[in-house]
Amino acid sequence: MKIAITGGKGGVGKSIVATSLAVEFASKNRTILIDADAECPNDHLLLSVKRKKYATIYQSIPKFDYSKCKKCGRCALACKKEAIVWVKGKFPAFVKDACIGCLACQAACPYGAIRETKKEIGKIYTGKNYNVNLVSSELKLGELASGEVVAEVRKRSDEINKKVKANIMIIDSSPGIGCPVIASLVGTDYIVAVTEPTPSALFDLKRVLYLANHFRIKHGIVVNKFDLTKKFYREIEKFAKEKKIPILSRIPYRKDFVTSVIKMKPVVKINPKYKKMFKEIIDKINIK
Ligand code: SF4
Ligand code: SF4
Repeated sequence: MKIAITGGKGGVGKSIVATSLAVEFASKNRTILIDADAECPNDHLLLSVKRKKYATIYQSIPKFDYSKCKKCGRCALACKKEAIVWVKGKFPAFVKDACIGCLACQAACPYGAIRETKKEIGKIYTGKNYNVNLVSSELKLGELASGEVVAEVRKRSDEINKKVKANIMIIDSSPGIGCPVIASLVGTDYIVAVTEPTPSALFDLKRVLYLANHFRIKHGIVVNKFDLTKKFYREIEKFAKEKKIPILSRIPYRKDFVTSVIKMKPVVKINPKYKKMFKEIIDKINIK
């Protein structure tokens, strides 16, 4: 079973929920946790995992052969990312950082002056602690293709799972609703949407659950710091009731969660009373 942890807004506690759920699952099941927040991976920190490099991720990019180039500018015209700058009578200039590797420029060049090469865009790491097998993605600094990195880490995790044979795979997504989030959600069986009682979190929650509905993936809500403000907690409850979405858990705003981050230890290991809370989420998702 594949479960995505998402939520829309950043900083609502997705990684705390993902790591604690993974630790709870791992007490009875073989579990893989994928840190798919490639721009800002931190599950290894929350679980005190010493990561080892598993693979480097590359993206296709064009390489120009100016001896064959006729300065026609068709490659620049074909590039929708403005990664090729062309001025009449000049050779095209390539802006590597803006390239997404679609190779439309290569297809558009009538003179065979463009061939395919590769650039590094990220890395995949693995590690284990608390019986949780962690697969962690990391976008190379300055690169933009986090969606590609997440798609690759999902693919490689299936490969890793041939050895691990996990029956539960948790995917901790990045914030937002863009390509990296979509790459995290596709092919999952359940989405746990983590939110907090603030207007911006509720706004983003609605957007991410629109995606869940679009992909027809079952979902439920976890309200982190639910006792922060009554007013906005009630708004979340109202929304959940209207849309018939189950609230899987209400996590209180407590110092234990701060301690968990500082000590790099899952909250269920800081204070065992939270085990019950995460176990209830598992029961409500209905996974044995
Ligand atoms: S590979 Fe695609 S994005 Fe990159 S330069 Fe060519 S057309 Fe532009
Ligand atoms: S399409 Fe080919 S020949 Fe034309 S400018 Fe680009 S690289 Fe040069």
